[in-house]
Amino acid sequence: MPATQHQETRSQRSIRLEDRYGAHNYHPLPVVLERGEGIFLWDVEGKRYYDFLSAYSAVNQGHCHPKIIGALTAQAGKLTLTSRAFFNDVLGEYEEYLAGYFGYHKVLPMNTGAEAVETALKLARKWGYTRKGIPRDQARIIVCGGNFHGRTITIVSASTDPDSRGGFGPYTPGIDVIPYNNLPALQRALEHPHVAAFMLEPIQGEAGVMVPDPGYLRDAFEACKARNVLFMADEVQTGIARTGKLLACDHEGVRPDVLILGKALSGGVLPVSAVLADDEVMLCIKPGEHGSTFGGNPLAGRVAIAALEVVKQERLAENAERMGHLFREAMQTLVDEFDFVKLVRGKGLLNAVVIEPRKDGRTAWELCLLMAENGLLAKPTHGDIIRFAPPLVIGKEDLNTACAIIRRSVESFA
Ligand code: PLP
Repeated sequence: MPATQHQETRSQRSIRLEDRYGAHNYHPLPVVLERGEGIFLWDVEGKRYYDFLSAYSAVNQGHCHPKIIGALTAQAGKLTLTSRAFFNDVLGEYEEYLAGYFGYHKVLPMNTGAEAVETALKLARKWGYTRKGIPRDQARIIVCGGNFHGRTITIVSASTDPDSRGGFGPYTPGIDVIPYNNLPALQRALEHPHVAAFMLEPIQGEAGVMVPDPGYLRDAFEACKARNVLFMADEVQTGIARTGKLLACDHEGVRPDVLILGKALSGGVLPVSAVLADDEVMLCIKPGEHGSTFGGNPLAGRVAIAALEVVKQERLAENAERMGHLFREAMQTLVDEFDFVKLVRGKGLLNAVVIEPRKDGRTAWELCLLMAENGLLAKPTHGDIIRFAPPLVIGKEDLNTACAIIRRSVESFA
């Protein structure tokens, strides 16, 4: 090759290939990662980063946790998939463990978060017809504006985000959207006699870590109970220790009728999701009415048991609670010092900082680029919000170093 010809780096090559051969349904930061361990990621040029996204809270237990990877590799050499046409020797044990862990009668195993949400919606409709007596095809589900529950047609039918929803109609009927964190709106919507369920995120993650007012979850739950409506919590992002408790609903002592889990259920190793409910709801679905080839596979079962054991053994909820306070304290000093750093909000280690765009047009995106340059990865949402969600295994010293990187980046952004 002539010396003058541009030599492509490994990063440039990966980005070029994705751009050329992959669908353009994402807009990633220009960082190409090849290795992860605990709270760190490394790019193909060997540069190390603090991971402050954790794959949207899937990697709560840290990257490549040895115990989870151990469970994966041991089971991978033995049996990975049988389908549900037969029994396998892991699924029952996994279901017993998961049901006991979260305190429900039964588990319905799926793979992605969106599938678990779809499962919950189907369960709610079935329960509505067979138990509540809603006339056929008349069931309604209440959801909240600003929600993010995934990407299927039915789920985007429930979305208010024009990017998620626009151009994908016709939409699934039977969905009522009310404002988040608004009890009177919920009470009005619940007056309709055909409502089967109210589904919400206890903290809206994708919307920018919107934390409802204290008491909202409890009051919403009680309003649902008064109307014989299922309270369904999508804890795909907030669950499994992220917010400083095992579930975000635990902050208000609310036990959802239907609990939706995903992401960190596998520690980010495999797509593993689940819906949990008691018999009265779960047994509304009969053989042949719902399922998935990969749902409940033995590999997923072993990985999920290990992932949940790690959460307990390493006391990740308690650590998230403690580190979260330190993080928000550190971010508050930035809010106090820099007028374009508008606020910090969150619970546990699910936090967001709002960055007002600069007069020269620079936004949270440019700040994220600076942070990446300085060795910390985070991603903006809605243009002006940066979510900060490191793996829950982070300790005080690393948290302080990470906060110093954010400070340095904010200073040069200013
Ligand atoms: N529900 C919530 C609250 C989420 O945050 C997400 C993903 O970000 C989903 C559902 C969808 O999960 P998945 O991307 O695994 O389908």
